[in-house]
Amino acid sequence: MNAFQLYGMNVGPDTEWETVIGLEVHVQLATESKIFSQARARLSAGGSVADEMPNANTTPVCAGHPGTLPSLNQKAVEYAVRTGLATQCRINLKSQFARKHYFYPDLPKGYQISQLELPLCEAGHLNIEVGAEGSVMRRIGITRIHMEEDAGKNLHRDGFSLVNLNRAGVPLVEVVSEPDLRTAEEAGAYLRKLYGIVTCIGVCDGNLQEGNFRCDANVSVRPKGCTRFGTRTEIKNVNSFRFVEKAIEVEAERQKQVILMGGEIHQETRLYDAQKNQTFSMRSKEEAQDYRYFPDPDLPPLLLGQDWVDGIRRSLPELPDQKRDRYRAEFGLSKYDSSLLSSSGELARFFEAAAIKVDYAKPVSNLLVGEVTRLLNDSGLELAQTKLVPKQFSDLAALILEQAVSVTAAKQVVGVLFKDGGDVPTLVERLGLKQLNDLRSIEPLIEQLIAANPKQVAEYRSGKEKVLGFFVGQVMKATGGKVNPGSLQELMIKKLKE
Ligand code: ADP
Ligand code: MG
Repeated sequence: MNAFQLYGMNVGPDTEWETVIGLEVHVQLATESKIFSQARARLSAGGSVADEMPNANTTPVCAGHPGTLPSLNQKAVEYAVRTGLATQCRINLKSQFARKHYFYPDLPKGYQISQLELPLCEAGHLNIEVGAEGSVMRRIGITRIHMEEDAGKNLHRDGFSLVNLNRAGVPLVEVVSEPDLRTAEEAGAYLRKLYGIVTCIGVCDGNLQEGNFRCDANVSVRPKGCTRFGTRTEIKNVNSFRFVEKAIEVEAERQKQVILMGGEIHQETRLYDAQKNQTFSMRSKEEAQDYRYFPDPDLPPLLLGQDWVDGIRRSLPELPDQKRDRYRAEFGLSKYDSSLLSSSGELARFFEAAAIKVDYAKPVSNLLVGEVTRLLNDSGLELAQTKLVPKQFSDLAALILEQAVSVTAAKQVVGVLFKDGGDVPTLVERLGLKQLNDLRSIEPLIEQLIAANPKQVAEYRSGKEKVLGFFVGQVMKATGGKVNPGSLQELMIKKLKE
């Protein structure tokens, strides 16, 4: 392949490339009612969109009946302002709703109410940590956060389609980042940080499966050192952090290959297929619609009082970064553990409710970061959908600290609690997991072992201390691992030396 010019740079097979990413995230606001009507917007705790009666949560406003008028939900504005303040945005005391026109059966009005020229929030940022142990901090700009309504949902069946408007008019904010992200890892860190913030400040339920937090990723590539941006594509609606990272990686690689083969990148919308790990063209910019935005005449400019905004600022809780630093200082947790625990509002609240004593923090953290995270990942469930409650973890921490159960046994208990729930003392009793601390009852077993293995005993006595492990292992095996390992080791040494 011959070298050629791209964006004013020489490009060849040895060119080092840089990926440029900007993210648009739709965050569903957890208000009880919709943004412009009194229809219910939020599922009852643990509920699922799929279980709802279609079109039960609608009013004539959601259905776009002629003559209806939108009436703005103050709580939705408050939540949007909270989001802006928690991401260091400027709050525009005057903002404007606009109509974004397109035709689709799930949008009966023929336009979506959004904000364009005068968004509610602008010019914020987030700090993300990447690299080994999160040692590199990067500041990512947030261009704007605007309010809008969600559309309904079309269900395509064999030969006909159904429209469900339960979601039409559910309040959203769209958080638009600057094209400041450079790697898939950074994009993942940005999403996790933003997710941690919106769930921590209580504006979003954070249920990824139900689409409470969904992301469009804009991706372009350019030769490293190039100062202008390349042509971007936009990958639509990816709703898992891991998939966003993978989609960005494969899309950047695809773009490089296209360019190196002498092709050109077209600005277009693409879809990511997780199964194939590929992106596919959905529609090109030429087919893109002109939305004919204009200020919505039904909604006057939104005017906020500085006092009201200041009140919201004062009511903001401790944010994830502050939480992380406090967990490290107060409980001596590792950077990784404290970042993970503060990375979702739900997890942080759970942790704090379980760590009711300072010395509970470490065992509770170990179980949450290790066992619970693994169980959640494997099952695809959210913490709230499981049978776990903080009290169980306080009880387990207490038992671990007084050496009444081993850490291994505690993990086993968590596994059962995760599925079936229940209370810890009963479960420990039923599963027979109480740790054996008084070793008098197993002394005969130890003596028997010593008598049966004279060769190993001789080895131990001649200085081969490794043999100790053999004896301890045998006892553990015979007792189902319930013996306090520290005490057992001590007793074993004493007996071997006798
Ligand atoms: P649109 O409304 O068409 O989606 P925007 O100007 O709102 O366009 O930009 C959307 C997102 O695209 C922003 O997050 C921005 O940071 C990002 N972006 C813009 N240009 C590029 C580029 N060349 N490469 C990657 N991302 C980009
Ligand atoms: Mg876009």
